[in-house]
Amino acid sequence: MLSRLTVDLDALAHNHGVLKAAAGGAEIAPVIKADGYGLGAGPVARRLHAEGARTFFVARLEEGEALRRELGAREAAILVLDGVKPASISRLAAATLTPVLATRDQAEIWTGGLRVLHVDTGMNRSGVSLEQAQTLASTGFRPDLVMSHLGSAGEPDNPRNAAQLERFKAALALFPAARASLAATAGIYLSAEYRFDQVRPGIGLFGGGPREVPDDRFRAVALLTAPIVEIRALKAGDQVSYGATFTATDDMQIAILPLGYADGVLRTAHKRGAAWLDGAPARFVFITMDLIAVDVTDRSAAPGDEVELLGVHARLDDLAAAAGSVAHECLVRLGARTERVYVGAH
Ligand SMILES: *Cc1c(COP(=O)(O)O)cnc(C)c1O
Repeated sequence: MLSRLTVDLDALAHNHGVLKAAAGGAEIAPVIKADGYGLGAGPVARRLHAEGARTFFVARLEEGEALRRELGAREAAILVLDGVKPASISRLAAATLTPVLATRDQAEIWTGGLRVLHVDTGMNRSGVSLEQAQTLASTGFRPDLVMSHLGSAGEPDNPRNAAQLERFKAALALFPAARASLAATAGIYLSAEYRFDQVRPGIGLFGGGPREVPDDRFRAVALLTAPIVEIRALKAGDQVSYGATFTATDDMQIAILPLGYADGVLRTAHKRGAAWLDGAPARFVFITMDLIAVDVTDRSAAPGDEVELLGVHARLDDLAAAAGSVAHECLVRLGARTERVYVGAH
């Protein structure tokens, strides 16, 4: 009797199709860093390759090496956001990985085939400044792809988006022959101007909405379920769990589930979040390391009944909001301990 993480690869393919339609002809380059947002970069990338994806982004060198093995003989460019250092050149080359060049030094030491330049347009996280890009251009550096990343694309009305777009266009003017990539999931839905030649969706592929609220165009890819192990009756006034997280105000029934934050369910969701049982929400009573309780007062619930913690009813963006986090974090945590099962063509 264990919790189970089901990864629905058909839902992944569906979401890929939704993003492709929205991207209006731009190449879809899936971002599958952190082991495919915790869902398994190998199976995810193989299915997306079958759907037509030929460029993948990862964060770390090790993720790139693992992905190259997982893709086997399939042809695909793998771009590593972490870039290059002198010590990693030979490993990048050996696995045919392309570093995303984010400093002038990196642009100078990388002599490999594909050259990808990350320009900072106002997120202040990584990438060369516009001035540095200018210097690179004047010394004859010619990237094949110029990319940048938006910091507030989830908020369409935020003026930061237009400001970043303008700076990105200024960077592109320095490298007229390069392809361009700016939008992640949220950016795809800002407007056509933001899509350029390539878009880099991550969370949308896995069912997260571009506006951080559930979006019915996308299907749930991660389904987390657990069977009830025990029903416990509480009397009014009973104190529950560590530090008496919860005190029953009335007589009630709680169902105990065999998973916890060690399996990736964010502990901070316990005050506002809910799991789903029989098509209706059952709010969390506590989330501890190995056990979760949900309120099943006046519900027909018995040991063995399946409870959905994430999926079609328990929406990813709702859980993220309840936890005070983002869908991305909710997903990447899931990889930890739970048995992972793949369904759909793969
Ligand atoms: C993570 C990341 C993405 C994907 O973002 P989503 O919000 O998951 O679509 C795209 N580009 C860069 C540079 C990233 O770091």
